[in-house]
Amino acid sequence: MFIHEVIYQLLVISFMAVIGLCGGSFASAIAHRISIGEGWIFSKKSVAGKKIFARSACSDCGHQLTVIDLFPVLSWVLTGGKCRYCSKKISVKYPFIELFGAGLAIVFYLFSGEITNSSILYLITLPFFLVFSLLLFSRSKSFAKIPLYIFVMTLLNILLFLFTIMRNIDNFR
Ligand SMILES: [Zn+2]
Repeated sequence: MFIHEVIYQLLVISFMAVIGLCGGSFASAIAHRISIGEGWIFSKKSVAGKKIFARSACSDCGHQLTVIDLFPVLSWVLTGGKCRYCSKKISVKYPFIELFGAGLAIVFYLFSGEITNSSILYLITLPFFLVFSLLLFSRSKSFAKIPLYIFVMTLLNILLFLFTIMRNIDNFR
């Protein structure tokens, strides 16, 4: 293998990892909003009759999170797993789901061996699978609130993953 090929592979793997991390971060926010009955973009609350944007906030002190707080994994590590404003502990499930997303994206790439249409479809459906997983394992009764499109996208994501592994399993023998 030539050096430029190695560098190229590392670049693509890093790319998959970053997309997976962001997908996990996005999934945490969406799962939280679904569990409290909020929409994706707008908050149910309105100020002076106007819709306001639903933004990620600390579930304890309600402080809205800034860009620095939204870096996957890194912000959790840098703050020692605590809210920067009220020092309330932030669950380890957040960095975990981000790393899980990155891991799945990398595994998918290693099996497919190249960036294909199915890689793109996989990355698009991955956050839905992560939302589903988060809601499935949350203690609240939010499972019943999972919208149908989350189920459909999760199913597509799982099927795509299984078929890609089955098609390319020979590469690993
Ligand atoms: Zn807080």
